Amino acid sequence: MTLKGKSALVTGSTSGIGLACARAFAAEGANVVLNGFGPADEIEAARAAIEAEFGVRALYSPADMTKPAEIAALVGLAATAFGGPDILVNNAGIQHVSPIEDFPIDKWDRIVAINLSSAFHAIRAAVPGMKARKWGRIVSTASAHSLVASPFKAAYVAAKHGLVGLTKTVALELAPHGVTANCISPGYVWTPLVEKQIPDTMKARGLTKEQVIGDVLLQAQPTKQFVTVEQVAALAVFLAGDAASQITGANISMDGGWTAA
Ligand code: NAD
Repeated sequence: MTLKGKSALVTGSTSGIGLACARAFAAEGANVVLNGFGPADEIEAARAAIEAEFGVRALYSPADMTKPAEIAALVGLAATAFGGPDILVNNAGIQHVSPIEDFPIDKWDRIVAINLSSAFHAIRAAVPGMKARKWGRIVSTASAHSLVASPFKAAYVAAKHGLVGLTKTVALELAPHGVTANCISPGYVWTPLVEKQIPDTMKARGLTKEQVIGDVLLQAQPTKQFVTVEQVAALAVFLAGDAASQITGANISMDGGWTAA
């Protein structure tokens, strides 16, 4: 229970990597704030399960990561309820796959807002409290696409590269204040985000579902295995711990060797 007494706010934590992170922080004793979209009954079940399984408090907010005022209010909720957040995980993210000349302008704006600008707004709101407490951990879910590109993912690749730049800047600013900021860059993790892009990739490249999984997704990953959400969450917990107090401004890959090539 290394995080007892701390609180963790995880954006985009109603499914996939974010939910796994929230559960992993709760397992270490942290109170958590969940955020994201989805069926109300499923979200409530996930929230209640965290409280029941780990004996912590878990709150949920439907704050929309495209709306700066809602992001500030989300951070405010963690402050009011838990005196936090001590740990901020910028994880909400969406994807859209399209050739650049057809890339819908509204999708570009939405991806940049959710995958990049939301982290700026959340960090901006969370930092005063972290500085005052002289302790904080900011972990952002970037991607292998923060280091390398793939065709047809202009907005996603641009936003994830930007997230790393934001993280490095914040790391330097907060280094004297006991606050670290790092990115985790997974390769392909089997989550709804990956599942949902398969039909568009099939269309964009003229491939079958099996070809997309084998020849496009796992083709890039030398281990030929998906990363698991639990593995990403375990790294987030490590970055929140004392052993990671000197890791800051880093972008840590967990991609089965993808970006080693
Ligand atoms: P997911 O679709 O399972 O989860 C995304 C979460 O973001 C959900 O909780 C969703 O409700 C939330 N969300 C989406 N739009 C939102 C908005 N406007 N406001 C608030 N919440 C919103 O996807 P995932 O794979 O778990 O992705 C999580 C993060 O990991 C993303 O940033 C993604 O880019 C990154 N990532 C995923 C993979 C992968 O292979 N799955 C690889 C690298 C990086």
